[in-house]
Amino acid sequence: MDWPILHKIPRAGMPAPNLADYAQACAAFSWEQARAQLAGLPQGGLNIADEAVDRHVREGRGERVALRWLSKEGGVGDFTYADLAALSNRFANALAELGVQAGECVFTLLGRVPALYVAALGSWKRAAVLSPLFAAFGPEPIAARMAIAEPAVLVTSARLFAHRIVPILERLPFLRHAILVDVPAGDAAPAAGHCRIAAFEELLDACAPDYAIAPTAPETLATLHFTSGTTGQPKAAMHVHAAVVAHRATAVLALDLRPDDVFWCTADPGWVTGTSYGIIGPLAVGCTLLADEEEFDAERWYRTLAAHRVGVWYTAPTALRMLMKAGDALARGHDLSALRFIASVGEPLNPEAVIWGQDALGLPIHDNWWQTETGGIMLANYAAMDIKPGSMGKPLPGVEARIVRRAGQGLETVATGEQGELALKAGWPSMFRGYLKEDERYARCFVDGWYLSGDLARSDADGYYWFVGRADDVIKSAGHLIGPFEVESALMEHPAVVEAGVIGVPDPIALEAVKAFVVLRPGHAPDEALRRELLAHARRRLGPAVAPREIAFRDSLPRTRSGKIMRRLLKARELGLPEGDLSTLEGGA
Ligand code: ATP
Ligand code: MG
Repeated sequence: MDWPILHKIPRAGMPAPNLADYAQACAAFSWEQARAQLAGLPQGGLNIADEAVDRHVREGRGERVALRWLSKEGGVGDFTYADLAALSNRFANALAELGVQAGECVFTLLGRVPALYVAALGSWKRAAVLSPLFAAFGPEPIAARMAIAEPAVLVTSARLFAHRIVPILERLPFLRHAILVDVPAGDAAPAAGHCRIAAFEELLDACAPDYAIAPTAPETLATLHFTSGTTGQPKAAMHVHAAVVAHRATAVLALDLRPDDVFWCTADPGWVTGTSYGIIGPLAVGCTLLADEEEFDAERWYRTLAAHRVGVWYTAPTALRMLMKAGDALARGHDLSALRFIASVGEPLNPEAVIWGQDALGLPIHDNWWQTETGGIMLANYAAMDIKPGSMGKPLPGVEARIVRRAGQGLETVATGEQGELALKAGWPSMFRGYLKEDERYARCFVDGWYLSGDLARSDADGYYWFVGRADDVIKSAGHLIGPFEVESALMEHPAVVEAGVIGVPDPIALEAVKAFVVLRPGHAPDEALRRELLAHARRRLGPAVAPREIAFRDSLPRTRSGKIMRRLLKARELGLPEGDLSTLEGGA
């Protein structure tokens, strides 16, 4: 099936998009101008926390709600920009008090609780390097990441400290302080070995609510983000304060954010999306950020969108597929009239899901593409631009993209429509500045001034980009290069299929054959008749060279903690190979 282009028609009562005309926006854009939209520190330099919070207080917007926190139990806590400014000042003072110097690393291991946002902003103010860890990690993945970054401070809860840190504490000689967020004043235990323990609230109460941020050079290291570990061991991507220029510009252009928006990013700050767009970008714009402590629940999510009048919603394909599975009636039972823009990132967004958004939510889903390494959105479907379902959209103004092939020592650009590696001209402000302790690996990512993403894609004559697959996941069968995404999307068009993962398995003649693992919608039986029907559907849709030769039914697919399908694991299990590092596997380690 060829998916129809979704033409954008201005909706009555909706404001004109920030980016109204793509070509014009590209011609007019410069990073210097984007930098000029920021305040900069009064004392010189550029600091993420100042742009995100203090700036608004200075400019008279201190009473606006910056963070609306939804607790697991159903409580709502509002924090104004002035509240966040004062709390993060206290945290920066606390770090100073504990002897934490600029450049030292602060880890957080917390769910989405207010202390996480305070610790992040306070660390940036202190010019410490923030590294937010996903709170569901067990001791081993935590130890592996800490061994790379050697944090001086960890902010976590008493329970997580006892269960996840104490068992590995001997391996963390660099960890001088643990700050526990849920310990009543006076109750903090004494030191645990070399690590001193403090109670978050008590510490903050003892510190002043004013803090003078030191002039921060824009190239100062700000954040260390571990990649999702979909293709192997996670890497520690280094990001600097200047990245805020891109966080703000992309929030405006690609997410269409404006200061009076209520914005909900469902990603956890343990992943780059949850920091770049779950904290920095929207706060730099001046929005109200919604943060829900609870994990995914279809009913709760629709209730949240309706009750808090969310205007812009940034989520992920996994969540959208789960909402699709929950049925359209649930969506239609809620008032989603405040929603203006929906975006998705993290995995390929099947055309099916784009259209489902239009039908069930009244808005198409806007896919965008980026990585931990790029720090911010690089390709996007913009609010004013027609959508070609299945496409990642077009490069951000100020970002130059190409589809290339490595040729000898250099690169060659492939013809329009041909697949190759997606490359970006180096130099945008949120580009990573290194993989910590892996200089060679970092150097290998660049050729002739271009950053090579490791993802295969193609562009079309209209300048839209299409995801093909990760370079490591591409299947070579009988002389064809087959992207798993295309096969998975075709399978998902069948009404019985809710999710699919596709890999190559060895074949004596074709080199590799395509094998699909399929999860069915409730009410469909995984029997031989359905298997044959799906094989026939795929052959009709894709042709025999690309269609899977085998289909296996599964109750679920292995995925990373951040929700991505792990094809490498499907393959390892299928072939009986070692499964490698599973620390990033959901439910694993
Ligand atoms: P690792 O690098 O450790 O294997 P990872 O690549 O999954 O993990 P992230 O940086 O979180 O870690 O994810 C970025 C990757 O996610 C992209 O390189 C791409 O493969 C995939 N991705 C993100 N957005 C999209 C999208 N819109 N369409 C297709 N793929 C996407
Ligand atoms: Mg990656």
